[in-house]
Amino acid sequence: MIDDVAQKLANIKTKAVAEFFSLQNDAEIEKWRVKYLGRKGALSALFEEIGKFRTEERQYLGKAANELKKELEEKLRAASDRTKSHGKGEESFDETAPGIPVPRGTKHPLTQFTDRICAVFTSMGFEIVEDREVEKVEYNFDKLNMPDNHPARDMWDTFYIKSQIPPANGMFHEVVLRTHTSPVQLRAMETRKPPVRLVVPGRCYRHDATDASHETGFYQLEGLVIDKGVSVANMIYVLDSVLKRLFGNFVKIRIRPSFFPFVEPGHEIDMSCMICEQKGCSVCSKTGWLEMMGSGMVHPVVLNNMGVDSELYTGFAFGMGIDRLMMLYYGVDDIRLSYSGDLRFLKQF
Ligand SMILES: [Zn+2]
Repeated sequence: MIDDVAQKLANIKTKAVAEFFSLQNDAEIEKWRVKYLGRKGALSALFEEIGKFRTEERQYLGKAANELKKELEEKLRAASDRTKSHGKGEESFDETAPGIPVPRGTKHPLTQFTDRICAVFTSMGFEIVEDREVEKVEYNFDKLNMPDNHPARDMWDTFYIKSQIPPANGMFHEVVLRTHTSPVQLRAMETRKPPVRLVVPGRCYRHDATDASHETGFYQLEGLVIDKGVSVANMIYVLDSVLKRLFGNFVKIRIRPSFFPFVEPGHEIDMSCMICEQKGCSVCSKTGWLEMMGSGMVHPVVLNNMGVDSELYTGFAFGMGIDRLMMLYYGVDDIRLSYSGDLRFLKQF
């Protein structure tokens, strides 16, 4: 009879729920599961009985029995969760919860920008060379055609260091903090023969009073190309390409004659101001042009000092201040920010 089965269903529910609350451990839960939800459990037996009814009655009873089955299964899940989290005294752990983010640093903007320039040069077949920051006067000045009376050697410009190098030929070497990266070019040429294409990034030191555009330590990138038949035209092409790659194809360059003791002829390379597009702004001092770098054809005396036959080979060299270019690139207006270690500044890169 349908009423009998309905009564049985109600009884199972009452008993199962009552027993559920007294379950203490996994073994008891399992016993409870087998008793009510197992293959030979109370519900299975009931389903078997329901199967013997006519369609309409079967549907009605089947629905009620299924609901009870679902309810008991949910209780089973809750019970095993309960023993998992409390039964063994363990904390519950949700492995799908998002973790606590670990703060990560970034490269310093100067390093990022140096990497950027170096990548442009390497793509054009240049080699990156680095060397010491404490340098012999011989390499920093003499061999670069900057004789004893050259104004750059003045102690107001250069940090001289008490020599620690033992005397050779009865003479102490004078030692300085390098004022430019050019000595690395000389050292590089001691182990290389032309043709060469190299760039030298690195830190340099000058005895400057610190202000928004001067620091006693700064970064420079110099380059050197030596080969047969190298001309000013090659130099212009290379430097124009590099500036376009860095700042955009729309920039123009102009060349002004200038003097550096290690080149002949020497040039200043200016780039059209990309901030005001040559309309004139405070960054370009209303001229529409920005001084980007010094350059020139390597002086024959310097070539000879490098052990290169200046009758056979020519070359060009250039040097740029990485700090200044980085400031233009990112729109930084004070050089001192780079060296302040101020996280509010550094976190923007
Ligand atoms: Zn401008």
